[in-house]
Amino acid sequence: MMDSDQFRKEAHQFVDWIADYFNDIEKYPVKASCIPGSIFSQIPAAPPEYSESMQQIFADFEKVILPGMTHWQNPGFFAYFPANNSFPSILAEFLTSALGAQCMKWETSPAASELEEAVMNWLKSMIGLPGHFEGVIQDSASTSTLCAILTARERSTAFRVNHEGMMEQIVMRVYCSSEAHSSVEKAVKIAGLGKNNLVKIGLDENFSMKSELLEKAIIADIQNGMKPVCVVAALGSTGSTAVDPLPEIAEICKRYDIWLHVDAAYAGSALILPEHRWMIKGVEQADSFVFNPHKWLFTNFDCSAYFVKDSETLINTFKLVPEYLKTQIPEHVNDYSNWGIQLGRRFRALKLWFVIRSFGVRGLQEKLRFQMDLAAKLKSWIDAQNDFEILAPVNLNLVCFRYHPHGLDDTLELNRLNEKLMLAVNGTGSIYISHTKLDGIFTLRMVIAQTHVELRHVRDAWNLILEKSREITD
Ligand SMILES: *Cc1c(COP(=O)(O)O)cnc(C)c1O
Repeated sequence: MMDSDQFRKEAHQFVDWIADYFNDIEKYPVKASCIPGSIFSQIPAAPPEYSESMQQIFADFEKVILPGMTHWQNPGFFAYFPANNSFPSILAEFLTSALGAQCMKWETSPAASELEEAVMNWLKSMIGLPGHFEGVIQDSASTSTLCAILTARERSTAFRVNHEGMMEQIVMRVYCSSEAHSSVEKAVKIAGLGKNNLVKIGLDENFSMKSELLEKAIIADIQNGMKPVCVVAALGSTGSTAVDPLPEIAEICKRYDIWLHVDAAYAGSALILPEHRWMIKGVEQADSFVFNPHKWLFTNFDCSAYFVKDSETLINTFKLVPEYLKTQIPEHVNDYSNWGIQLGRRFRALKLWFVIRSFGVRGLQEKLRFQMDLAAKLKSWIDAQNDFEILAPVNLNLVCFRYHPHGLDDTLELNRLNEKLMLAVNGTGSIYISHTKLDGIFTLRMVIAQTHVELRHVRDAWNLILEKSREITD
């Protein structure tokens, strides 16, 4: 077995490797291009009987694993939404893994519980959430949204489903826009509400929920004897960062006594900038709110910040204390395993603490502003090109666009052409972009949010897209 002297030696080499990795990261193809099964076939079917040296293991990491990795920290990564890290976050993850603490309860690591409470308060004030919210770190926005829907279900049935199951309950309805994230549907299924009871509300021309359609759907459901329990408002939809009209949705939720959950998984980070606070007007009426520092706040995956107005309802939904977990928990401290689904919990607050302190709020603000300026530049270059068009408002730093050569107006042909363009661009290995469909239109998505992205990366990416668009239509 490895001892601490060997560990020290290996760890120094690993740190050197990591620093070199970041120095050389642009030399790696952003998107892995290996054929399916090619990694699996290189892994022996049976585990080793005897110890192998770290040198051998590491050599295989470089030879077998690395070529099959997509390099999310490469500044040429413009796909999906990012899963950013940063050096302070990586350092904190070193310590978290070294401490190896399982932070389910206050007693099992008081510092983890108390730091979580403190940094969630920091985040709350950084993004301008009202003081009455309380925060807890979940693994992902999917989990946070599931917690919201379960809590909404329990509140609206006076905790009867937790006790008796779904038998004999009236049909419960959940609402979101047709551009809401798929995690809402997943949560509705897991919560036992049935995905046919997720009502997808129509959009306006900016891909935001039409609140008058929401109210109509709610009224119709009530008339049909069903019970509206939760509305999920998207603050920055995944397709195009569309923002649902929170003040109007909040009023409707209040009128019909419906849980309002705000899914700001990606865009929530932008709220650290006062000029983007318009997006959460009305949030004081929300029951829960989620955003992911692991997306656009330079904190390693996983770290999802979940805020609730009433922690008691949340805790009453999840709390379970078997004998073997009974501790004398002092008042005014939190056992976060009662605030969600998992019992065992990683010490996630540490990396957030490191990131916020190391960047400073100002440093984080500057970085986000810089990246949004880059996105505005990209938009202006696209606007200036006759045969490209912007397809959705650029609210933050996601640019939705397509190639639209003069005289070619058939939607299906344009869809095929843009898919071909995306594959051609990604196939070069220098950048990675992704797509969505907006109103049936194949839409290229380019997110300018990677931790190390600079102007030159965006410029080179745009030139590459132009060059490939000429090549595929030649
Ligand atoms: C990314 C995203 C999610 C899912 O986030 P996970 O943390 O991966 O579960 C949910 N909602 C929106 C709007 C997103 O952009």
